[in-house]
Amino acid sequence: MSTKYVYTFGDGKAEGKADMKNLLGGKGANLAEMNLIGLPVPAGFTITTEVCTLYNQKGKDAVVKLIENDVKAGIAHMEKIMNAKFGSKGEAFPLMVSVRSGARVSMPGMMDTVLNLGLNDDAVKLLAEKSGNARFAWDSYRRFIQMYGDVVMGVAAAKGEHNPFEVEIDKLKEAKHIKQDTEFTVEDLQVLVENFKKVVKTKTGKDFPTCPWEQLWGAICAVFDSWMTERAVLYRQLNQIPEEWGTAVNVQSMVYGNMGNNSATGVAFSRDAATGEDIFNGEYLINAQGEDVVAGIRTPQEITIEGSRRWAKLQGISEEERASKYPSLEEAMPQAYADLNAVQEKLEDHFHDMQDMEFTIQDGKLWMLQTRNGKRTGAAMVKMAVDMLKQGMIDEKTALLRQEPAKLDELLHPVFNKEALKKAHVITKGLPASPGAACGRVVFFADEAEEWKNRGEKVVLVRQETSPEDLRGMNVSEGILTARGGMTSHAAVVARGMGKCCVSGAGDIVVDYAKRNFSVNGTIIKEGDWISLNGSTGEVYLGKVETEDATLDEDFTAIMNLAEKYTRMYVRTNADTPKDARKARDFGAKGVGLCRTEHMFFEGHRIDAMREMILSDTVEGRRDALNKILPMQRGDFEGILEAMNGLGVTIRLLDPPLHEFTPNEPASQQYMAQKLGIPVERIKEKVDALHEFNPMLGHRGCRLGVTYPEITEMQARAIIEAACNLKLRGLDPRPEIMVPLVGTVKELKQQAEIINRVAAMVFEEKGVKVDYKVGTMIEIPRAAITADQIAEVAEFFSFGTNDLTQMTFGYSRDDAGKFLPEYIRKGILKTDPFAVLDQEGVGRLVEMGVKLGRKTNADLKVGICGEHGGEPSSVIFCDSVGMNYVSCSPFRVPIARVAAAQAAIEE
Ligand code: ADP
Ligand code: MG
Ligand code: MG
Repeated sequence: MSTKYVYTFGDGKAEGKADMKNLLGGKGANLAEMNLIGLPVPAGFTITTEVCTLYNQKGKDAVVKLIENDVKAGIAHMEKIMNAKFGSKGEAFPLMVSVRSGARVSMPGMMDTVLNLGLNDDAVKLLAEKSGNARFAWDSYRRFIQMYGDVVMGVAAAKGEHNPFEVEIDKLKEAKHIKQDTEFTVEDLQVLVENFKKVVKTKTGKDFPTCPWEQLWGAICAVFDSWMTERAVLYRQLNQIPEEWGTAVNVQSMVYGNMGNNSATGVAFSRDAATGEDIFNGEYLINAQGEDVVAGIRTPQEITIEGSRRWAKLQGISEEERASKYPSLEEAMPQAYADLNAVQEKLEDHFHDMQDMEFTIQDGKLWMLQTRNGKRTGAAMVKMAVDMLKQGMIDEKTALLRQEPAKLDELLHPVFNKEALKKAHVITKGLPASPGAACGRVVFFADEAEEWKNRGEKVVLVRQETSPEDLRGMNVSEGILTARGGMTSHAAVVARGMGKCCVSGAGDIVVDYAKRNFSVNGTIIKEGDWISLNGSTGEVYLGKVETEDATLDEDFTAIMNLAEKYTRMYVRTNADTPKDARKARDFGAKGVGLCRTEHMFFEGHRIDAMREMILSDTVEGRRDALNKILPMQRGDFEGILEAMNGLGVTIRLLDPPLHEFTPNEPASQQYMAQKLGIPVERIKEKVDALHEFNPMLGHRGCRLGVTYPEITEMQARAIIEAACNLKLRGLDPRPEIMVPLVGTVKELKQQAEIINRVAAMVFEEKGVKVDYKVGTMIEIPRAAITADQIAEVAEFFSFGTNDLTQMTFGYSRDDAGKFLPEYIRKGILKTDPFAVLDQEGVGRLVEMGVKLGRKTNADLKVGICGEHGGEPSSVIFCDSVGMNYVSCSPFRVPIARVAAAQAAIEE
């Protein structure tokens, strides 16, 4: 059988269906599905994603030839159902189509839709005649030239300039003293068409194509071309979407929302995408077409009365004014509203998830143009899953699998301090488009947002409106503020997807790109000034508003309880202080997987004692200095062991190269010289002697304990004494002493002997015993390879995947930033191996280490404590190799818990 490249749909039938997203893209698959479940969808066809791949391999001509007949058949199929003719010479109603891109997942970087394709100077007259509505015909035509010129022919605005088509529109509005594009007369629209054609000619040097077929192929190829544009490539990188997926192309008969006051277009959500509440909502515009709502050209109106009233209140608009000027769809077109409401319920029931829908009403009749599972904030993700579980729409496992672990992060982020908020100066209010508390310096251009961010600044991106070009800049900003656009504007939708705070449609602000400032009610805010945004209320504040920790609600707890129920691995935390340990315990951490002791040497005057130890030449001298540190360390360990009472606490012995502690400044060298009563030259000599060419591979880890056993003795004593003290107070401390950077079993054996000897001594002295374990980090490739030998001594392994990655790749962690981005751009690496565990290489060492270790020690407890412990895909890997736990920073604990449960469910 030959490959099928084109799938048709229409009139209650479809060749595709919802689960064919890989082939038809999300939009195409769901257009087919909506047909199949009896919803009104204009007829059309989908060109598969495979054709996109062929297009990139074989080029345009080959592909056009390959699918030419199928496309012709697809158009004929539409002509029949819609009773119209593409390129009609007057024998029938002219068929106009939209050309729409559509990958497996929706991608803002892709080609914008072209509407009303098929129009030209003859067809527009025919359309006017056959529809009896010249205004509508010419409005459609001017829109077509604008869109086609823009997205297919590449007419674009230079930086800081406005879109040249919009400039023409504004000029004409000014000359005619009108505000809305709905006020244009037929003659005005005819003028616009002529001017638009001139814009195309001057900007591209080409005439606007008049042949419908030429237009169609131009648009289809433009969709395929857009798959490889910088914008699309960037979006795929940010969201880990493979290039091989490709995009489908949907060609669909037009339905018209711009036929007059009984027509409209809009966007709707079956639940609230920002908060997750089960409230049908959305926006629409009367007498408008598609992108008008999203582009923020006019102020869109709310779909429901309830939503409309809430909106009016936020805007300070009276009920009378609202009802007369901005009525909801529910009021303006009750029948179409009732139909839409029924459709949204049907779709949610059908897909068992919140739907994000696009629709058009043509002369009172509802048409569905798109549906998909809606993007949502982290908070909405949690709430919807819990609600749908309660409503019996989904089961527990599905509720858990619906969680994008990384998004939980948003819920844990700081919110504005309530008291500080009361005092804050509100400069204006926009729409609460995407929740969060953002605070940063104002910038006006996306590329500059990136520059500022690279300099270490926090920025808030302020725009008239955003477009897909601004993606990069939005991604690095703390928050986004726009003057135009509603809850479904580009800025709002993209920000919610990114989990970024956004206030949109703050209509009082006037952005002046040239002067690089914005004014609002008489106040001028310049580039670089601080502002704060409250994405939950839409309020904009002057200056920095203080933030505080978020509190977690019942729904969050419900998800965490589900995670607990289904997980196999447990989650520990990396914590160096009792405060962090307690925080992590609140988030559900079951112990500490890594307590680094070196931080404890830096605090206050401890560093003096540490330096004294490093600088002294004799064992006695070092012992004296270490004895000063001992009580301080013991105190720290008591605190952490107490915070994790009853749970294991893995404490790592001193790890970094000693030179990190040496006094390098002349002033501190002088200070140490005086304190120790030795000449400053001696100090300098010693510091020089400690210099290493390659400290990461130098005198560090257990190598310190081997050369200075007294350090291990002191640390072991501090830990065991701390545990005994707690035990005497009736607590249940469970220390696990971890020897770092072991490469041979003998290193571990010798260190373990010291630890055990000291422990026995302390038990004698204190007259009490505690359970403790001795284990090691596996972070040198040799340790993974000889894990069977090491496990004969070690009671536990903790994979230190930061160092293991460094040493397996031979990439210095501190220098990799110079070349890794290039490696990723050139496709040598998919992701940064320090962020996402390299399963093919480093992962195999990990797997091998676990297997070999358990071979000689069946009870061996195994975990991971590198940065990867909180990264979802790495957590899933850890589960697959049979680890007992992962350990990560406190704020990542919930993320890791959900990822671990998902791993267990998916297996
Ligand atoms: P995006 O992927 O950016 O959402 P779409 O392909 O969904 O782009 O098109 C954007 C808008 O264009 C739709 O929401 C719809 O309002 C309008 N549109 C697309 N196709 C048609 C059509 N056949 N008839 C009427 N409007 C359409
Ligand atoms: Mg679009
Ligand atoms: Mg759409």
